[in-house]
Amino acid sequence: MTTEIFDVAVIGAGPGGYVAAIRCAQLGLNAVCIDEWKNGKGKPSLGGTCLNVGCIPSKALLESSENFHHIQHNASAHGISAEKVSVDVPVMIARKDKIVTTFTMGIASLFKKNKVKSMHGRGTLLKREGEESAWRIKVTHDEQSEIIQAKHVIVATGSTPRPLPFVAIDNDRVLDNAGALALTEVPKRLGVIGAGVIGLEMGSVWRRLGAEVTILEAMPDFLMAADEQIAKEAKSVFTKETGLQINTGIKINSIKLSGQTVIVDYNNSNNEPQILEVDKLIVSVGRVPNTQGLGIEDNELLVDERGFIMVDQFCRTNLKNVYAVGDVVRGPMLAHKASEEGVAVAERIENIEKGYSSEGEAIDFNVIPWVIYTSPEIAWVGKNEQELKAAGIAYKVGQFPFIANGRARAMGETSGFIKVLADEKSDRVLGVHMIGPHVSELISEAVMAMKFSASSQDIACIVHAHPSLSEVFHEAALGVDKRALHI
Ligand SMILES: Cc1cc2nc3c(=O)[nH]c(=O)nc-3n(C[C@H](O)[C@H](O)[C@H](O)COP(=O)(O)OP(=O)(O)OC[C@H]3O[C@@H](n4cnc5c(N)ncnc54)[C@H](O)[C@@H]3O)c2cc1C
Repeated sequence: MTTEIFDVAVIGAGPGGYVAAIRCAQLGLNAVCIDEWKNGKGKPSLGGTCLNVGCIPSKALLESSENFHHIQHNASAHGISAEKVSVDVPVMIARKDKIVTTFTMGIASLFKKNKVKSMHGRGTLLKREGEESAWRIKVTHDEQSEIIQAKHVIVATGSTPRPLPFVAIDNDRVLDNAGALALTEVPKRLGVIGAGVIGLEMGSVWRRLGAEVTILEAMPDFLMAADEQIAKEAKSVFTKETGLQINTGIKINSIKLSGQTVIVDYNNSNNEPQILEVDKLIVSVGRVPNTQGLGIEDNELLVDERGFIMVDQFCRTNLKNVYAVGDVVRGPMLAHKASEEGVAVAERIENIEKGYSSEGEAIDFNVIPWVIYTSPEIAWVGKNEQELKAAGIAYKVGQFPFIANGRARAMGETSGFIKVLADEKSDRVLGVHMIGPHVSELISEAVMAMKFSASSQDIACIVHAHPSLSEVFHEAALGVDKRALHI
C-alpha cells in the first residue's frame, strides 16, 4: 500500500468519472482516476461507454450513413448526379475507430495536463475498518494489485447492456451496441430488439446503408418517453420515409440461431404468432448499472431494487465521503447528465476540503436535454403534454413546422416541427419538443431559456438570424400567443 493519500479517487473514466477527476484537479485537489476499459486490441482506453462504444462512435457512423443516404437519394434534386455510389464498410468503420482513438487518447492528455493520476485496472472499495481517515481501494490489473488511499471516492462505473434471457450475445450474429458499431458489411436483413434511443440509432445507421430493418418493441406504444405528438410524427416518418419496420406491443417467445440466420419467434400486438428471420440481430433492451467487483457488499453500500447505487440530490451515497454519479445512479442515462453530476460532486468535495459551508447545487433533471440522433432528429427538454395533463397544469401550446422555414426548404429537410409548452398564467416555458433537422443543436437554446426561467414572450423578443432553422423555435414561441408570422 502506498503511503500517499489522494484527496479524491474516481472509479471509472467515462464522462462522469473523467470529467469529475479533471474538475477536482482544476480545483487543486489531488485526484486519481481508475479505469478498467480495454479496447478491441486489448489496450487500456479511457472514456468509458460514451467514447469507446456509445455516443461518439454511433454519431460517427450516423454521419457516414447519412452522407451515403443523401448522395443516393437527395443529390439528384440538387442537379447533382452521382453514379455507382457504393459504400466501403471497413473504411467507414476505420474512420469511426480513428475518431474514437483520437478522443480516448485526448483524455489521457487531459489527465496529464491537469495532473490527474491515471491507473488502469479494476477498482474495489475495501472494507473500511473502524474510524480510518481514508478509504482504501484495491486496483487490480492482470492479476497484480495495488492498494491506494483516498479521502473521498467518486464511483462512476457506468452501465452495461441488459442481456436478454432468450439468447446470448456473441457479437457475430447476435449483437450488443459494441457489435452493432463494428459490423464489417451491411447485413441484408437486420432485426433490432428494443425501439429505444440506441436501437433506433443503430437501426437507422444500417437502414441508410441498405439493410432491411425490423424493430421489435415490447412496449405498447412507440417512444413512450417522448411527447406523444412527437412520437407519432417520428413513427410515421421512420416508417414511411426511412423505411424502418417498427412493431410495438410484441412478446418474444424464443430466439434461435439456425445456420447463418437468427430466428425470432414472437407474438405481435394482436397476439398472433410471428417469425422474423434475420442475418444479424441487435439486442438493445436497456442498460444495467455496473457495480460488479466494486466491493458494495463488503461496505454495505446501498443499492435500489434495480441495482442502481442509491444517492441523494447531491450524489452522496450512504457511506461517508463516497459519492456516485452517471449511469450507475438514478436519472437519465446520458453522458451530459453524468458529466454534470461529476462536476457538481467535485465542487462539493472542494467545499468540504476548504471548509466552506455551501451545500452546492443539486442537478435539475428538468433542464437536461434528451436527443435521439435519427433522421429527422428528435430532442426535448422539460415536461411533455401528457406529463402536464397528468399533473393538472394548465398550459398553452405554440407549434411551427419546418416545412414553412426557408432554411429547411433550402436544405431539403422539411419533416417535423417544434412545439413550445408554456404555463397558461405565468407564460413560463415548461417544455420544448422538437423533431426535425439539426434539432440536437437547436435544443440548447430551449435549455438555456428554461434554465433562466424564460417565458415564451422572452424567446419571442429575441432576434433570430434569417434564414436559419432557429427561426422555427422563434415562430413556435410566437405561436404560444397566436403571433406566429409565417403560417
Ligand atoms: C450506442 C450508445 C449510444 C449512446 N449515445 C449517447 C448520446 O448520443 N448522448 C448521450 O448523452 N448519451 C449516449 N449514450 C449513453 C452514454 O454513453 C452514457 O450515459 C455515459 O457513457 C455514462 O457515463 P458514465 O461515466 O456514467 O459511465 P460509462 O461511460 O459507462 O463509463 C464507466 C467506466 O467505468 C469503468 N468501470 C466500471 N467498473 C469499474 C471498476 N470497478 N473499476 C474500474 N473501472 C470500472 C468502465 O469500464 C467504464 O470505462 C449512448 C450509449 C450507447 C451504448
